[in-house]
Amino acid sequence: MKIAIDEIADKVRLQEDVPAEAWNLDSEYVFFVGNIHIDSLCEKISENFVVNAEISVSCKAICSRCLREVEQKKHYDFRRNYNLAELGKEIDLDEDIREEILLNFPLKVLCSENCKGLCKDCGVNLNEEQCLCKKHNKR
Ligand SMILES: [Zn+2]
Ligand SMILES: [Zn+2]
Repeated sequence: MKIAIDEIADKVRLQEDVPAEAWNLDSEYVFFVGNIHIDSLCEKISENFVVNAEISVSCKAICSRCLREVEQKKHYDFRRNYNLAELGKEIDLDEDIREEILLNFPLKVLCSENCKGLCKDCGVNLNEEQCLCKKHNKR
């Protein structure tokens, strides 16, 4: 999201959709899909250029317990103060927003808090069926 600072009188609301693949956010277990939606309010407050934005993303992730794919929508608040004197005529927020998403993304994703995961012995998804392993080999 590029903002022409010169053209802002005191504040402006800007919205933008960025295709997720353009930002290369994917990791081994998390894939971003669709658009990243940025809804921002940018304000000049004395020496500062203040950005308040809400970032919405959709992603597919692999549950780290049962390996099932889960779709999630996430919202992040992005708040930054920039020093107007240090900015040129234009500011590009993409890299800062991208960082914010990556910093906040959990390393482990669960399809639900109560996910029972997979049986270590037979690989059955314990959310969907019960296996007999525990009964057969008590350890
Ligand atoms: Zn799970
Ligand atoms: Zn089992």
